[in-house]
Amino acid sequence: MLQIDEQFIVDNFDKALANGSIKAYYQPVIRTLTEKICSVEALARWQDPVMGLLSPFLFINVLEKYRLIHKLDLYILENICVTYNEMKSKGLPLHPFSINLSRLDFDEVDMLKAISDILKKYDVPSKAIHIEITESVMLDNTAYFRRIFDSFHDAGFAIFMDDFGSGYSSLNVLKDYSFDVLKIDMRFLSDIGSRSKKILASVVNMAKAIGIHTLAEGVETKEQMTFLRNIGCEMLQGYYYAKPMDGELYVQYLSDTGFQVEDPEEHHYWNDVGQINFLSPDPLTENDFVEAENGDYGFIRENAAALALIEQSGPQHVELLYENQAFATGLQKIGFRCSQDMITAINETEAAYYPNMDEQVNFSIKTGKVIKEDHFLNGVYFTYFTKCIAQTDKKVMLAASIQTYGSNVDTSSNEMFDVYSRAIIDTYDHITLMDPEHNRVTARVYSKQGYSPDYSNMPLDVALRNFANEEVIETEKAAFLAFTDPPTLRHRMAEGKCRFLHQTFNLKCPDGSFRPKDIRITKLYLGIDINGVGEMFMLTMQSITEDGN
Ligand code: C2E
Ligand code: MG
Ligand code: MG
Repeated sequence: MLQIDEQFIVDNFDKALANGSIKAYYQPVIRTLTEKICSVEALARWQDPVMGLLSPFLFINVLEKYRLIHKLDLYILENICVTYNEMKSKGLPLHPFSINLSRLDFDEVDMLKAISDILKKYDVPSKAIHIEITESVMLDNTAYFRRIFDSFHDAGFAIFMDDFGSGYSSLNVLKDYSFDVLKIDMRFLSDIGSRSKKILASVVNMAKAIGIHTLAEGVETKEQMTFLRNIGCEMLQGYYYAKPMDGELYVQYLSDTGFQVEDPEEHHYWNDVGQINFLSPDPLTENDFVEAENGDYGFIRENAAALALIEQSGPQHVELLYENQAFATGLQKIGFRCSQDMITAINETEAAYYPNMDEQVNFSIKTGKVIKEDHFLNGVYFTYFTKCIAQTDKKVMLAASIQTYGSNVDTSSNEMFDVYSRAIIDTYDHITLMDPEHNRVTARVYSKQGYSPDYSNMPLDVALRNFANEEVIETEKAAFLAFTDPPTLRHRMAEGKCRFLHQTFNLKCPDGSFRPKDIRITKLYLGIDINGVGEMFMLTMQSITEDGN
């Protein structure tokens, strides 16, 4: 490596700043899911007429030793401001910039004030600047740095922890400080073998559990990129996408390559999307570790739950941004060749089946809750889960999951069965089987009204009471309970010499309104001999009004 005299650095530093030999180079940070540029890191370069291009490794230490580093860092910030304003004047989208700070900066000057003064001078907002600090900065004097970071946060700056994992005390640092982004350097992992992969997956999982965003730097290969995408790492930086380049070149690169820049207005949207944990066994409902019975943690399960991220930017504008293998397999089981076929079908089809899904999607957008509905397609029952995880006024991101049942059905010989089942699903909104004798909900056959599956996991009388409270219009709650009263069902049917009882109640619809439904409880003569199951009754709900609600 090039040997540079310390004295050379010290003697020539001021001159190099003044004549522009030192300047910021820019390396884009890419949003993993969209591959758009979401920010850029500024890295110092010293182009000496004699010595050539000097890397920061040659001069940062010296500048720190001679307490000059703050001058470099503030100078790089000024460079950024110039580039920012140039981009602004060219009408280019304005993404944020990262600067690297040294711990010694804080010893020399009031950094927050110095940075704010420069931003004011160039009329650049604080949200355009991310502060990168290596963890070693924070190892001592915790209270002092915590105060400093709080004041940066209060002033609107995001703080990135650089080189996570390179120091000795990363976990302590994570515990003691609140960061916005964790930068994990791929170069700290000597190879990308299975051990490294497990470590990376665990770090990303942990970051999501504590609400910190993840960025991998030093990404050089497609293999690394694909792996990081699959574990849900939100942002990527490295030679695979682009090397650091000088300011003019960068602006040129933005204009020429058509490399798209993320709309700054969508920053929060993508941050929300990034919180979804791709590795969780239950990504839609929780973000935490799950300990399995065998002692494994959810995040190292090989077979994560089915998960897809589907963006909807209009009634027939649906796009698949991510799917894992389990989701793709689930869709194949219900008859799609690949997930893209489903997306095309959603965008194009007017078939009766899809409006149902539409309603489910709209309900999850409105409530932000996980909506779980049962469907039937090509001879396979499945439950489709949707949750709206982020939205702007133009689009929404839905996390979706799918669980199939009885998928070994031979679809070719089951076409008629498919037709019958569709006819039944078309007729009834909800079917539940119950066993009043043992006070049990035997099975929720299916529901297209989005009623909570929790009603099936409790004693029958409790389920009915909860259902009455949640779903039945106030004035009819008592009548509903009297009508469904489990211990007297059999007797009431016998008295009426009738196989079923039916009555109309106003039930809550996905849009929150109450509509009349015919509720029918029918005694079954299935002759099924299930262990411990008594006489079975089927509760069905059927819409009365024309629009199917
Ligand atoms: P850093 O902040 O972690 O920056 C990332 C380093 O990785 C940069 O090295 C970048 O050029 C390099 N890099 C990016 N992608 C790849 C890749 O795919 N493969 C490989 N092998 N390397 C990649 P650089 O520019 O030499 O900077 C080294 C360090 O010097 C930086 O590490 C940062 O800690 C420090 N530094 C750079 N500029 C400044 C500055 O203006 N002020 C301060 N205080 N420190 C700076
Ligand atoms: Mg950095
Ligand atoms: Mg780094």
